[in-house]
Amino acid sequence: MAVAAAAKVQEVREITRIERIGAHSHIRGLGLNDSLEARNVSQGMVGQMSARRAAGIVLQMVKEGRIAGRAVLLAGQPGTGKTAIANALASSLGADTPFTSMAGSEIFSLEMSKTEALTQAIRKSIGVRIKEESEIIEGEVVEVQIERPATGEGNKVGKLILKTTDMETVYDLGGKMIDSILKEKVQSGDVITIDKATGKITRLGRSFTRARDYDATGQQTRFVQCPEGELQKRKEVVHTVTLHEIDVINSRTHGFLALFSGDTGEIKPEVREQINGKVAEWREEGKAEIIPGVLFIDEVHMLDIECFSYLNRALENEMAPIVMMATNRGVTRIRGTNYKSPHGIPLDLLDRLIIVPTTPYEEKELKEILSIRCEEEDCQLSDDALTVLTKIALETSLRYGIQLITTSSLISRKRKAPEVEVEDIKRAYELFFDEGRSVQFLKEYQQEFMF
Ligand code: ATP
Repeated sequence: MAVAAAAKVQEVREITRIERIGAHSHIRGLGLNDSLEARNVSQGMVGQMSARRAAGIVLQMVKEGRIAGRAVLLAGQPGTGKTAIANALASSLGADTPFTSMAGSEIFSLEMSKTEALTQAIRKSIGVRIKEESEIIEGEVVEVQIERPATGEGNKVGKLILKTTDMETVYDLGGKMIDSILKEKVQSGDVITIDKATGKITRLGRSFTRARDYDATGQQTRFVQCPEGELQKRKEVVHTVTLHEIDVINSRTHGFLALFSGDTGEIKPEVREQINGKVAEWREEGKAEIIPGVLFIDEVHMLDIECFSYLNRALENEMAPIVMMATNRGVTRIRGTNYKSPHGIPLDLLDRLIIVPTTPYEEKELKEILSIRCEEEDCQLSDDALTVLTKIALETSLRYGIQLITTSSLISRKRKAPEVEVEDIKRAYELFFDEGRSVQFLKEYQQEFMF
């Protein structure tokens, strides 16, 4: 099993976390205190106290790692912060707890079946913490030989003869090992350790064997001067990868590189079965631990009946992640059927869900969010401009208000103003329509030209 390669994958994932200024980049966490109560304004989050508190409890569940396979539904009107809360939860999770975010509509891709897309999303949300043991050899240096070539004539080469309790071994030294030998000033008579995985050499102290130490009976003694506790023979190295990454690495048709392009295609069920078996074996041997992460499905009403029934079954699996869903629909048709149900979700799945409502914002909360967004976008607004922008957001939508920050800031920059004034907001408002005015405009247009 490609554990070393899996460690590399972890690095790749770190890089993909770097984010530019996005819709939720102002959010750094759920903004809760130690007893999981939401602070009114904290870590970029404003208001929506009970939903944030509920998310805090979900976070606690994830951290305890025991309660896998739960599902939470965030239900509320557009722009009430459902995605924001999911993102806040993601940033509060530990670095090795996987978080996958997708929109319900992503399932309908041409490249893979709906259930395959869901399976991949689920397996991306399950972490496997793999513990590997790296062997450390300890012994007494009999001899070190290092050849230092004249500059520009290739690398240093060397040999080290090490005596352990039962034998003498000759090691061919690589560049890194030679560097650490020179750094530690290792010479014959020293007691050292070699980390087999990294090649790191550590000098523990001096052995007096060679100094011919004798005890009272005239027996030669071996006395090693080294602090206690450093003579550890094995050390644990831990990597966390997702089940999906292990699948891809071990899938003969894809291979490791597919992870870079994200184009992993379908993965054969046999590969997954094999991986599940292997992971179960590792868990039994105490070499691996499962870390259930979070799968966030936005616009969950876009899933159809097949997906829902698949999800329902998947949640029962003991390795399932916590599934968090969001919807802004009330009673609506379940896709793929002629039946209506709350949030377009079948009743058997609804029955399993913990539903967390998000409520519309009050004016002062909108003002606070807009002001945080201005800071995030490095945009200076006059007090009056912020008041007008808040009024607009209240009457149209928070999202539209946020859009106007960027556009009005560009307009103010064009006239070389130090900050955005009411007139810039007004200009942006006239140029870019909100949904209500756009619909109205098209209605009038229709009446004028279509008949
Ligand atoms: P939809 O139903 O349309 O998907 P939503 O409920 O997911 O909407 P978001 O996308 O989370 O809404 O919110 C719209 C914008 O407002 C985002 O930029 C989000 O980061 C920000 N926002 C929403 N609520 C908050 C909040 N409580 N604190 C800080 N920012 C927020």
